Amino acid sequence: MKTVGIIGSGISGLSAAAVIASEGYKVTVFEKNQQLGGRMRQFEAEGFVFDMGPSWYWMPDVFERFFSRFGYKSSDFYELVKLDPGFQVIYDNEEVIKVPADWDELLELFEKHEAGAAHKLKKFMIEAAYKYEVGVNNLIYKPGLSIKELINADTIKGAFRLQIFSSFSKHVRTYFKNEKLISLMEFPVLFLGAMPQNTPALYSLMNYAGLKQGTFYPMGGFKKVVDAFIKISKDKGTEFFTSEAIESIHKNGASQIQLTTTSRKVTLDGLIATADYNHIESKLLQKEHRNYSEKYWKSKVFAPSCLLFYIGVKQKVNKLEHHNLFFDTDFSKHSHEIYTDPQWPSNPLFYVCCPSKTDKSVAPEGMENLFVLMPIAPGLEDNGNIRHEFFTVIMRRLEKFTGTDIINNIVYTKSYCVKDFISDYNSYKGNAYGLANTLNQTANLKPKIKNRHINNFYYAGQLTVPGPGVPPSIVSGQVAANELIKSLSGVK
Ligand SMILES: Cc1cc2nc3c(=O)[nH]c(=O)nc-3n(C[C@H](O)[C@H](O)[C@H](O)COP(=O)(O)OP(=O)(O)OC[C@H]3O[C@@H](n4cnc5c(N)ncnc54)[C@H](O)[C@@H]3O)c2cc1C
Repeated sequence: MKTVGIIGSGISGLSAAAVIASEGYKVTVFEKNQQLGGRMRQFEAEGFVFDMGPSWYWMPDVFERFFSRFGYKSSDFYELVKLDPGFQVIYDNEEVIKVPADWDELLELFEKHEAGAAHKLKKFMIEAAYKYEVGVNNLIYKPGLSIKELINADTIKGAFRLQIFSSFSKHVRTYFKNEKLISLMEFPVLFLGAMPQNTPALYSLMNYAGLKQGTFYPMGGFKKVVDAFIKISKDKGTEFFTSEAIESIHKNGASQIQLTTTSRKVTLDGLIATADYNHIESKLLQKEHRNYSEKYWKSKVFAPSCLLFYIGVKQKVNKLEHHNLFFDTDFSKHSHEIYTDPQWPSNPLFYVCCPSKTDKSVAPEGMENLFVLMPIAPGLEDNGNIRHEFFTVIMRRLEKFTGTDIINNIVYTKSYCVKDFISDYNSYKGNAYGLANTLNQTANLKPKIKNRHINNFYYAGQLTVPGPGVPPSIVSGQVAANELIKSLSGVK
């Protein structure tokens, strides 16, 4: 039986493992941390259950497509609830827009803010739905190895409609004038790790995902998704080794690969490396086997890092919904401090998730579970004093909005930032979400999934195609697995 190794047990590694094991290969996953799941891990403290990374479950069809490959549905593993409101945005003067799950209510909300906006939103969504159909059901499953992949009947016919070369920011402004509606429409593309003006208008497919399909939550948290992927992989025979980091990757003759782990040497017929692409190349491979130079990585636009706080509060916090975006300060200034002139933000925007509003299992009775995220430039100096300074700023704004004394009721708090992303995930500059989906870093212009020097060696995860986020990472694992299987079975 041919053997395949997977480096990393994030969602892309788990996705790749399931696909390859189901084709009859002997699959082994090596994970440096004690827990499986990568950025989708969870931890428990003082009766609270914290999701460490993702909190927005968008594009449920991508998850279902993965499960259906193995004869399952998500409901075989977890209960998925649709949030209503999907999220709320808090603007200055504490004005709030709650985004309803219902389409007709959303149209009414747009019309209330700008005459004629309901009709425009309908038109916008017809285009966004088309891009979603072509982009998510077709293009993102391409390996990005040849430009020919992108040239098919759908893309040629629809090249103009797909709007790959125009900016998202301009696109939105041709439809809407109201600043609040514009920021609401621009928010979904922030998931792609770049500014709306640098993001192709193709990505209005994210508006279809976030505003039309809606925002979901897996009861019990994102670990339920990780557990489902692990179960499928294990049922197909995958073996998992935790606390076993890979220290080097070598070519072993013409057709084999040798890994040195923290405890042994392993010889394999195929490899998918899903850890941070830069770490794999610059730390695990000899120079002559790397796809890219350090200069290449320095020239890339990385998605932000972030400062996170996991907080347990011993009372209920009023006015919060499950997802809360504090857009009550100048967005352009904060983004300038992330992308153009990297520095700690002078007046930050932030996001608060309060999953205990939906899920009783994540906090003790009568208490609240808060996850606070403030995006920052990757690579910033990170220390306890800076973290504390921002904690105070954010808590003050949160207390003002909610009218609740939070600080004096905190029973648990933990911060997480650049240094933790580096030590936990070997993340380049402590990036949180990989590479930004800018025009120059989309599809075939992303770091390649195939190693050019070692046969049967592929990369997957948020730094390669199709990009950052849980659904793209699920796709990435499948795409790399499909290519490796073709190569190992001699199809190409
Ligand atoms: C704070 C935060 C919030 C987010 N919010 C959302 C959200 O709401 N919705 C959404 O869709 N996406 C969100 N994302 C993005 C999403 O979580 C990621 O894009 C996705 O989980 C990445 O999966 P991955 O498999 O590529 O990488 P990872 O999950 O990072 O997995 C890589 C694994 O490789 C391991 N590893 C590293 N080096 C080695 C080594 N030498 N040997 C062995 N193992 C190694 C790491 O420990 C890790 O487990 C968020 C991310 C973060 C950090």
